Amino acid sequence: MAARVIDGTAVAAALRAQIAEQTAALPFTPGLAVVLVGDNPASAVYVRNKDRAAQGAGIAAQTIRLPASVFAKDLMGVIERLNADPEVDGILVQLPLPDAIPPRPVLEAIDPAKDVDGFHPLNAGRLQDGIDVLAPCTPSGVMRLLAAAGTPLRGARALVLGRSTIVGRPMAALLLAADATVTIAHSRTVDVAQECRQADVLVAAVGRTEMVRGDWVKPGATVIDVGINRLPDGRLVGDVAYAECAAVAGAITPVPGGVGPMTIACLLDNTVKAALRRRGGRG
Ligand code: NDP
Repeated sequence: MAARVIDGTAVAAALRAQIAEQTAALPFTPGLAVVLVGDNPASAVYVRNKDRAAQGAGIAAQTIRLPASVFAKDLMGVIERLNADPEVDGILVQLPLPDAIPPRPVLEAIDPAKDVDGFHPLNAGRLQDGIDVLAPCTPSGVMRLLAAAGTPLRGARALVLGRSTIVGRPMAALLLAADATVTIAHSRTVDVAQECRQADVLVAAVGRTEMVRGDWVKPGATVIDVGINRLPDGRLVGDVAYAECAAVAGAITPVPGGVGPMTIACLLDNTVKAALRRRGGRG
């Protein structure tokens, strides 16, 4: 039987609508500041999309554009100003930064209470401790998709393919917090296919075109494809060989239209959460 398709576009639209309703009822407008350094065209598109989505959800978004030649100390100055600005609830520095600026100190300069990307080590550490924090947006989006698909997590075997700071590690922490039995596979894992075959929930975040094949998937498993890979002909495909895996899985996300739309929706959700926590409401 073919897998159920988990429609990330629809789940994200519902979340954005819910956020818009929430912000309309607030006595203040949550503020999001996005810092874009340099002229990476993909980053410019992401930032534009974030800006548009924020406006549509009742969030005041501002984009601070800095040249690629900016000195790290000047970028830090911008972050300090945003940290001190009471109207700014969330700060996001669009990655990647130009080579001359190491990202770590920049991310660590963001006030953890305004860290809507969830990349500050304080938030990352709290997440590992199972504390409810501003969690990174892509893994948070995956958790919402799993909930929308009705995939049981308690006691389930979950395999996270990839161990990046942005996706794999926080993904594993969120699945663990949901009482799954979690394995993380990476480039040094001896038999990735065999690890995958045991998973009731398989989350692929490797950045390798269609690496996960149909015979890696346990029949009936839920397969979440975080990967975004552009083929030479311009098409976007995931880390999962979709047709093969959909023939075996119980539920699966497409690319595009799966995890991608959830990331921005979860960023808006984190912005509202940060605003409520900072301004004394519930979040
Ligand atoms: P990274 O390159 O930072 O991490 C990739 C991970 O995959 C690493 O842990 C690496 O292992 C592992 N890996 C690479 N090759 C293999 C292999 N052959 N076998 C097993 N493991 C392997 O990528 P990201 O986590 O940032 O992103 C992953 C994918 O998700 C990309 O396609 C990216 O575009 C996409 N993405 C999508 C988002 C969305 O909104 N939908 C948001 C963020 C990312 P090791 O650590 O050993 O090197």
